[in-house]
Amino acid sequence: MLFNECKNELDSIGIDLNNKSIGEITISIGKRACKRYGCCKQQNPIKSSRYVEKIGRKRYVKYALFEKHNIEISKWVMQLNTDIIKNTIMHEIIHCLPNCSNHGNEFKKYANYINYKLGYDISRLGDKKQDLIDSNIPIEKEKFNYKIECSRCGYSFYRKRLNCSFSNKYRCGKCGGRFSVYQGTFYQEQYM
Ligand SMILES: [Zn+2]
Ligand SMILES: [Zn+2]
Repeated sequence: MLFNECKNELDSIGIDLNNKSIGEITISIGKRACKRYGCCKQQNPIKSSRYVEKIGRKRYVKYALFEKHNIEISKWVMQLNTDIIKNTIMHEIIHCLPNCSNHGNEFKKYANYINYKLGYDISRLGDKKQDLIDSNIPIEKEKFNYKIECSRCGYSFYRKRLNCSFSNKYRCGKCGGRFSVYQGTFYQEQYM
């Protein structure tokens, strides 16, 4: 299994996931359709690793160590090329390491080390469209009959059906501007 491959590769560069400070890691495939690649849920924080982080004027209680981590890889990711799946798994594994629950300096330090030593390309955000293209997965297009565009900020979206009083009834949610409605045939890529 790919997770074990990642584990062994990490072991070969001196990152031992069986180390007691890391806690137990489980991995599963997320069933819901969503945009993100994966996530890592931390459970059972270790009380002695508690610290307080100041962001601006606010203080947040954080923990460096957890007893349990559950990595979830999104279902759509599993159809991508193996190297992209492994990148995603590696990204989430880093979140299980001490002080790595966000994408801060410690996270970056591990990501750079793994990229350099093992030839990975772990970054903060993936490019979903590019990854689908690279994996030869066709991007489906959906047909719409109306394009609605804000005449002030340019924000636009598509609809299949539209009430004729739409532009009188509604204003742009981003800037409060008026909408212009265009009728025609519009295609939008369905990879979101
Ligand atoms: Zn992340
Ligand atoms: Zn607007």
